[in-house]
Amino acid sequence: MMKSFTHLSFIFIVISLTSCGKINLLTLEDERQLGEQAKTEIASNPQEFPILPKSSNPQAYAFIEGIAQDILNSGQVQNRDNFQWEVYIIKRDDVLNAFCTPGGKIYFYTGLMKYLDNSSAVAGVMGHEIAHADRRHSGKQLTSQMGLQILLQIVAGTSGQDIAQMVGLLAGIGSLKFSRDHEEEADTYSVKYLCPTKYQTDGAHFFFKKLIDDGQANSGTPTFLSTHPDPGNRVSNIQSQASAASSCVSKTENYTNDTKYLQLRSTL
Ligand SMILES: [Zn+2]
Repeated sequence: MMKSFTHLSFIFIVISLTSCGKINLLTLEDERQLGEQAKTEIASNPQEFPILPKSSNPQAYAFIEGIAQDILNSGQVQNRDNFQWEVYIIKRDDVLNAFCTPGGKIYFYTGLMKYLDNSSAVAGVMGHEIAHADRRHSGKQLTSQMGLQILLQIVAGTSGQDIAQMVGLLAGIGSLKFSRDHEEEADTYSVKYLCPTKYQTDGAHFFFKKLIDDGQANSGTPTFLSTHPDPGNRVSNIQSQASAASSCVSKTENYTNDTKYLQLRSTL
């Protein structure tokens, strides 16, 4: 009796902890598998995810992979070597979005790339997306949504692989909404990652600023913005964190007025 009471208490404690979005019951290997699984599903659905072929767009891929590499080599990405990071461009001019699967598969829509005006802005979004994977937000979110089911699987002794498959099926592609805390943390880490790079440290603010300037902040909000926090608050948070960041490399060019990006953008 005592034993089962303790066991039950343990489960209740874990459920209450998991529901706050801070606990992750998925292992790095689970997240790597989820990433591979998502990549396979995306590749098998060209109707919804028409991937721009690398062979016919080498410059665009060199550019966006270069930005990802610069961030991964910033010395700030904790899981740089734990995940196989890959970047893909989805040819959908109507979609103002980017997303990153668990385990580091990053997808940029051409609609977003055409909306952004400079390399620092792209780097800012890239930093935000890398942060979701690096900070393991998907695992935390899935844990909070599915804490009980996962716990029951663990109690039943089901293997990690089955858990990864289960959460993969239930999560869907790019449909996972992050919490306000996770969005804020991804913005904060974008600043942290960009600080040692050549890009402008507050690069993530450009997108939100443009949305506000265009009066689009409240309509057709992309999922990576989620419904919260308010874009205006995000601009000021990103800018104040960037100006408080010390020991950033000195940035002579800042990559904010680069005609090279505008040229590249026009080829997409
Ligand atoms: Zn986000």
